[in-house]
Amino acid sequence: MDRQRTDRYYQLLEQMVDAMNDPENFNRDHFIEILTDIAKFFRLSKGVTEFYKTISQEKIGDGEVLIDFDDGSEGRPIVARRLVTRSMAVVKGTLYQSDNVEPLTDEEKHKLDIMLRALLGFVSLNRLQNAVERMGFFDENNYPNLRSFKRAIEAINVRHALSEYTSACFNLRHFTLINQEIGREKADLAMRNYFLLITSLVGKDGIVCRMGGDNFVAIFKNELTEKIKDAFLGAPVFYDESNDKRIQISARAGLFSIPEEFILEHYGFITEKIISTALIARQDGNGPIVKYENALLEMKEKHMKLQAKISKALDNDEFRVYYQPKVDIRTGNIVGAEALCRWECDGKIIMPGEFIPILEQSMEICRLDFHILDLVCRDIRRWLAAGRKAVKISVNLSRKHLVDVDLLDHILEVIDRYEVPHRYIEIEFTETTSEVAFTQLKQVVMALQDEGIYTAVDDFGVGYSSLNIIREIPWNVLKIDKCFLPEDSDKKSSNTSLMYTHVVSMGRDLGLECITEGVETLKQVETLRNCRCYFAQGYIFDKPLPAHEFEKRLDNPHYDVP
Ligand code: C2E
Ligand code: MG
Ligand code: MG
Repeated sequence: MDRQRTDRYYQLLEQMVDAMNDPENFNRDHFIEILTDIAKFFRLSKGVTEFYKTISQEKIGDGEVLIDFDDGSEGRPIVARRLVTRSMAVVKGTLYQSDNVEPLTDEEKHKLDIMLRALLGFVSLNRLQNAVERMGFFDENNYPNLRSFKRAIEAINVRHALSEYTSACFNLRHFTLINQEIGREKADLAMRNYFLLITSLVGKDGIVCRMGGDNFVAIFKNELTEKIKDAFLGAPVFYDESNDKRIQISARAGLFSIPEEFILEHYGFITEKIISTALIARQDGNGPIVKYENALLEMKEKHMKLQAKISKALDNDEFRVYYQPKVDIRTGNIVGAEALCRWECDGKIIMPGEFIPILEQSMEICRLDFHILDLVCRDIRRWLAAGRKAVKISVNLSRKHLVDVDLLDHILEVIDRYEVPHRYIEIEFTETTSEVAFTQLKQVVMALQDEGIYTAVDDFGVGYSSLNIIREIPWNVLKIDKCFLPEDSDKKSSNTSLMYTHVVSMGRDLGLECITEGVETLKQVETLRNCRCYFAQGYIFDKPLPAHEFEKRLDNPHYDVP
């Protein structure tokens, strides 16, 4: 090589190395220009680099092939290099020259080889970085993960622009149901398309990441909030490859618009706020989209304090059982009663509506239920010992108990400890929506029945009742909720009246004992009688009574029913 050519060679080598060493400003087009110059310098016709993540992928040819330049003239390989990285990835480079140009000298071949080796080192590093990026910042289904979210937040924070942004955590609604309905694969596609929809709304200034399952987080410019909220409320997305079937997907979301004074010490400051707000959005009655506000946090704090107070109250024996009689309207006799708990706190009576939902957020409800069962068994034992005529008492058990595989043993332990004959106990369960709980519920009900303990499905008709619950599970009693019972103003032809009639007759035909809750008026008693629902519980007879009041009823267990 003459001096001039050698100078040019070093110039090209320097350009190439400089470009490779400045990844921040790497520009692929510029790099290709340099490579093309090198190719011209060495009279090459084509250059190809290949990348395989593993040796076995190389064997089956499953990799990325990049043609870095090609002048279109046919050629044959003159220099080839294969490099295996420590992680067993394979990078290959092959350079071609056509027959009608002057062949390379040995010195030229050597120089070219040096360049090719440097280039392959760079390609492998680059590709591996991409692979690492994929692995680190995307989940196994190729959704950006929480690390991507963290990186995005930190990047915004570096620009001091967090207050221009709103962050959200959202959970797709009824996705288990959608999975069942259209099948997993199609549901995956629907989820992907919904994600892509939100991603497109969020735009290039934000990001949407999957936390796992059907839970996502996002951060976007404040001005996009309304549009994104609309999509949370529901948007149709395609769920088949050919894009002609659509399904409506909606989400429950917690939003946090980042305030001016917000200091990001840790990105978890944002995620914890949106996650806890999203949990509030998932509870019924709060609406599907909840904004993070300090008030919410205060509410949570209040709940936590109350929870702690309730735990103490349990230790201090502050819970009482009240009994509400159940009446046979044909005779006016008391045939049973429901045990309902009351909290006596600082001389005031607190109703279950105020604390049961809080206890149900944890397993504390189970402690309370067993405490009530204990009190009930103690009372029955006392009544029997005093020669009083006892009646069957029903105890409410939360669905939370269904995770307890030894539930039956735990119930029996209490009842048997007080030597209460099983016929005096009835257990009320409300309906359940999840399939796992359903199977568990069925097993518990059957096991209780084998023990001679009555079971009742409580609040039938409230929420998402499924007729399956009475078809599949052999209950003794169907407790029809007061929302099914026609009010005095309801006409005989009203939907409520018609449904009530049919629910009672269906229950009866299925061999269930039917009882209606919340009977308040004479006209309602009349309705029960006409529909042949002979058992009633309600204020028309008695409100839930403290034990000593109820005992008086037991001594004279009769009401005059007109
Ligand atoms: P529930 O099991 O459906 O109990 C019936 C509720 O209806 C009781 O409310 C009762 O006082 C009320 N009620 C009875 N008759 C009438 C009426 O004629 N009109 C009206 N408007 N209401 C009537 P309470 O005692 O406030 O209990 C509310 C709910 O709290 C219960 O509903 C039950 O789900 C839950 N609960 C009460 N005690 C316990 C317990 O020890 N454990 C569990 N897990 N839940 C309990
Ligand atoms: Mg009940
Ligand atoms: Mg009920």
